[in-house]
Amino acid sequence: MRTRFAPSPTGFLHVGGLRTALYSYLVARQAKGQFLVRIEDTDQERSVEGAVENMLKTLHWAGISPEEGVMLQDGIVTEHGSKGPYTQSKRLDIYRKHVDQLLETGHAYYAFDTVEEIDAMRTRMQQAGNPAPRYDSSVRMEMRNSLSLPAADTQARLAAGEPYAIRMKVDSARVITFQDDIRGKVEFQGAVVDDQVLLKSDGFPTYHLAHVVDDHLMDIDIVIRGEEWLSSLPKHLLLFEAFGWHAPRYAHVPLLLNQDRSKLSKRQGDVAVEEYIAKGYLPEAVLNFLAMLGWNAGTTQELFSLNELIEQFSLERVQKAGAVFDVEKLDWLQGQWMRRFPLEEFAQRILPIVAAEFPAAAEDDHFEQKAALIQERITFFPEAPSMLGYFYADPTVEKELLANPKQKVTPEMLPELLPALLDTLENVAEAQWEEETLQEKLEKLAETMGWKKGQVLWPLRAVLTGLPFSPGAYEVAAVLGKETTLRRVRNALAL
Ligand code: GLU
Repeated sequence: MRTRFAPSPTGFLHVGGLRTALYSYLVARQAKGQFLVRIEDTDQERSVEGAVENMLKTLHWAGISPEEGVMLQDGIVTEHGSKGPYTQSKRLDIYRKHVDQLLETGHAYYAFDTVEEIDAMRTRMQQAGNPAPRYDSSVRMEMRNSLSLPAADTQARLAAGEPYAIRMKVDSARVITFQDDIRGKVEFQGAVVDDQVLLKSDGFPTYHLAHVVDDHLMDIDIVIRGEEWLSSLPKHLLLFEAFGWHAPRYAHVPLLLNQDRSKLSKRQGDVAVEEYIAKGYLPEAVLNFLAMLGWNAGTTQELFSLNELIEQFSLERVQKAGAVFDVEKLDWLQGQWMRRFPLEEFAQRILPIVAAEFPAAAEDDHFEQKAALIQERITFFPEAPSMLGYFYADPTVEKELLANPKQKVTPEMLPELLPALLDTLENVAEAQWEEETLQEKLEKLAETMGWKKGQVLWPLRAVLTGLPFSPGAYEVAAVLGKETTLRRVRNALAL
């Protein structure tokens, strides 16, 4: 089982591109086959310097690097494998040879028309009531090409070096049917397929020719690509037939949509994988999210590691309908993956970030204990310093934070609440300063005074952390220790 990812190096890796790469990778891995990367740089004007390296780095970040084709080795872009070159601009002679074969067998022809002539033809057809004008059998003989011109004329033009394109000759009477791995049976009328340009006047192939030649020569078993290519499928099938080759299997994956179900666009959010990396998303979360954009396991499982995806993925369970790109779901998965780190690793990951703001963290023997308190709540690593800062410096507590109508703590109660808290805490022996004792004593205080638990815990948590959200009062007080806890309660009293 050989699959491929075939990006055009026109910029960054799109989230949809990474999903296509992932699906191709999963299909190959599941069958213990090969996944390769081919670079489709036949549109020289749209190729961007450095794009290949960036895309490969992003694939590497995601953990789905190829073992054949274009890849990074020690950070340098190289090619590896016996079916190369894997960069289309290095394969021009191969395309030329193949297109010559199509010319010989009558499946292709030379076309000398200028851009202006083609535009004029389109306008003419539109005016005649044809909403989708094409260069096809209906106009072929009116245009300047080797089918309409006398043979000697064509030879003379070629000899004189007149620019030309090579077009495929489509039989408009054909009906093309195919079984797509995702879409099921698809059918196309030859009459709506144009005489596609295969080789451009600059000697470069179009995607259509290059795709067919390369996927055949590179022994690709399934072409997994975006749905936007479905309408080009009949051209590709006719080309495989013209060459006398077996077409591969095809799987056209559904479009990615914005929340309003329009096609996913930059205007409504980030579409470059790099932007998600920069924001601190974990590769596990992004892959998990992308895998489920269009696929589900048919169970209630929502968290999938790459290995679990390799085991469970199947093209049969990929939907036809477009998949809505829901960032809230991504953030939820991100949180879930943050919780999955073993505590030790989680603590190691956040330590340098926290220590950059609070150097004392670097010397802290109990850092892991503190990290444990936030692992259940954090979404991104860079949030760690603000979530842990109060362990290393007394927080500035806003007076307004101490009262909280939801917890039924009014400002009027504070002059009574805070001294009672202080008194209770002062009476807990240093040796007994731990979560359970604190809980017991504070619950007792609430009971004796006729307060609800929250009325005691809210102000305590607020004076200790200075934050509206944080781990609970007992946990924080236990980690802070008696001296610091008392100091902070006294500071609040002074407020
Ligand atoms: N170069 C094409 C693209 O980036 C590849 C389509 C395909 O996978 O065949 O859309």
